[in-house]
Amino acid sequence: MSRPRKAEDPIRWPVPCNRCGQHHQTVARWPDGGVCGYCYQQAKRTRGTCACGHEGVLPGLIDNQPACRRCSGIRLNIDCRTCGTEDELYSGGRCWACVLGNVVDDLLTNQATGSMANELIPLAAALKSMKRANSGMTWIQQKHVAAFLRNLAVAPDITHETFDGLPDSRTREYVRGLLTEYGVLPQRDELRMRYDRWAAEALERVRDPQNREVIRRYIRWHHQRRMNLMEVARGTFLRQTGSHRGHRPPQLAHRTWHQTA
Ligand SMILES: [Zn+2]
Ligand SMILES: [Zn+2]
Ligand SMILES: [Zn+2]
Repeated sequence: MSRPRKAEDPIRWPVPCNRCGQHHQTVARWPDGGVCGYCYQQAKRTRGTCACGHEGVLPGLIDNQPACRRCSGIRLNIDCRTCGTEDELYSGGRCWACVLGNVVDDLLTNQATGSMANELIPLAAALKSMKRANSGMTWIQQKHVAAFLRNLAVAPDITHETFDGLPDSRTREYVRGLLTEYGVLPQRDELRMRYDRWAAEALERVRDPQNREVIRRYIRWHHQRRMNLMEVARGTFLRQTGSHRGHRPPQLAHRTWHQTA
């Protein structure tokens, strides 16, 4: 996640950065020398295990190897005020994960009652637990996502019907999927629901009442009946194999957030 660099300016900044050797403004003087803004950012994001065994952010440079603050003598504020973790701070002295946690709580709390619906607690936990909290922030700060979660926070109850009543969007189906995975919403045959919705809309478009009646009967007796039979057959299969249970990923960490952008 490195920013594109501006062109060097050797006249304005005659002394080059000690780390990258380029002529940019020096933003810090560290024991290993003056560093430019780009190298400073990169140093804050360098993680690993120092030679001393310390695990965390390694902003220093000793013998060209990343080193912890203690070994390198670098003073840098990377201690989250909330959780105490050593990490790149995002805002207000807090790490990305803590800021994300606050945003999730804020969006999913019903402001009128000051509390979060019980059904939304697993969703909040899932959203907070994502590995790349900065991607999560990018996702959740999108206007349509934030608005969707706020709507959900004040929904009278969390059911598939509630979701159906909210504007159709990828965010809606994504959050519905999460709630299903975490067992808050029952599994539902989305294909079947989509078909029924499509059929209802298709019927509305037919102007002539006689034609509409013919098509309605066709849908009801041909397609829907077939789908019902298929469902009964599949239900029997699932009950016999027990495979309708336990479709539950352990964590959200493997998800890619921009899928729902
Ligand atoms: Zn540099
Ligand atoms: Zn160290
Ligand atoms: Zn934190």
